[in-house]
Amino acid sequence: MTGTLAILGAGAKAIAVAAKAAVLRDMGVDVPDVVAVERSGVAANWQADGGWTDGQHRLGTGPEKDVGFPYRSSLVPRRNAELDERMTRHSWQSYLIGTGQFAEWVDRGRPAPTHRRWSQYLRWVADNVGMTVIDGEVSRISVDNRVDGRRWALHTAEQTVKADAVMITGPGQAERSILPGNPRVLSIAQFWQRAAQHEMLTAERVAVIGGGETAASMLNELFRHRVSAITVISPQVTLFTRGEGFFENTLFSDPTGWTSLSPVERRDALARTDRGVFSARVQDALLADDRIRHLRGRVAHAVTRDGRIRLTLSTNRGSESMETVHGFDIVIDGSGADGLWFVPLLSQDALDLLELGLGGPLTGDSLQEAIGHDLALTDITPKLFLPGLSGLTQGPGFPNLSCLGLLSDRVLGADLTAAPDQSTRRSDEHQPIR
Ligand SMILES: Cc1cc2nc3c(=O)[nH]c(=O)nc-3n(C[C@H](O)[C@H](O)[C@H](O)COP(=O)(O)OP(=O)(O)OC[C@H]3O[C@@H](n4cnc5c(N)ncnc54)[C@H](O)[C@@H]3O)c2cc1C
Repeated sequence: MTGTLAILGAGAKAIAVAAKAAVLRDMGVDVPDVVAVERSGVAANWQADGGWTDGQHRLGTGPEKDVGFPYRSSLVPRRNAELDERMTRHSWQSYLIGTGQFAEWVDRGRPAPTHRRWSQYLRWVADNVGMTVIDGEVSRISVDNRVDGRRWALHTAEQTVKADAVMITGPGQAERSILPGNPRVLSIAQFWQRAAQHEMLTAERVAVIGGGETAASMLNELFRHRVSAITVISPQVTLFTRGEGFFENTLFSDPTGWTSLSPVERRDALARTDRGVFSARVQDALLADDRIRHLRGRVAHAVTRDGRIRLTLSTNRGSESMETVHGFDIVIDGSGADGLWFVPLLSQDALDLLELGLGGPLTGDSLQEAIGHDLALTDITPKLFLPGLSGLTQGPGFPNLSCLGLLSDRVLGADLTAAPDQSTRRSDEHQPIR
């Protein structure tokens, strides 16, 4: 495929795709120009200033699950072994060897790297492959209709980047807060800002809204603060431990067979391995700490009263919904981690295009269910790759770091010029589709 692929965010996924594109280009294979538009810096979300970590916490997955993992390319007939061999030059081990850290890492028992070290690895890859990064925060995504076809336009304050396809990355907006400006309610970014400055939180009762990896990292940090009780609020029945045995891990590294499962089976597997579950390492720490408990529910609203934050939780019990009110001294709002975070960036013409292709309103479910093998929405041109939402249809490893090498295969193997099916074409009044 040729053309331009613009990636919103220069994080792990963008670097994985840029690295494979660079290697393929070196092999003489036609690939699109890959450009990442980044608001902060390459791999920023793994450093303190990205708002998701203080950089000191450790990666949950093994670092060997790097930008080329699982090194099982199937993009270039008869040359896939060569492609994989070339990709190993950008592996975690190659980084350690190249920077003189390999022997120490092995002798220390292959410890999980800190988020900061992981960002250094990602930057090393980006530098080595000469990744193109355009500085700027994407504030709007619109459709650029031209006589020779339709493209996406990513708008930043300084410029507009036009591309034949777009891939959205990243976990969401760390700055989100249910009570913005209230000093007792911290967004994810505010929490990590304080942690990075070694500021101690002192409180009787602290609530963390949200489950999953983001909350897990924050709990890991909260353990060492002066708080008497920590309540994790999430809609799940309880705080599940992620299955990390061979069979669960295989689902992440190798989604062969995933599409043959029924939607119910897939949702069940995701619930056990991915959504709102904590890694075994964090669960061990949780068990050992009697300050932590779980409260089931969704936060319906929040108010300040008598110097405390009162959260109203709505909980489904069978067919009924129940509301309860709970008071906290400090609330950490982890709900900014959201797979649909990019939807407010879509202009009306982009929304219309997507709803036409989806055949109905744009919702979390309709987007997830429409993601095809190439991790883009089917029947929509220009291509919109949504790996963060592709877990349900394509496999649980694609939204995270579990199979970045497979992700880059799927994205770079896509046909950027593919026309949508008849139903979409029929309704297209403006332009012929390339
Ligand atoms: C604290 C934490 C720990 C995690 N640990 C693990 C783990 O151990 N293993 C695992 O598999 N997954 C983990 N995850 C999940 C993780 O988000 C994904 O696995 C991985 O980061 C996804 O890579 P990415 O390229 O999509 O996003 P990121 O690496 O997060 O990159 C997104 C980039 O987009 C940029 N950006 C955001 N908005 C804009 C905008 N509007 N305009 C321009 N640029 C923008 C950001 O600055 C950032 O650089 C963790 C997530 C968090 C939050």
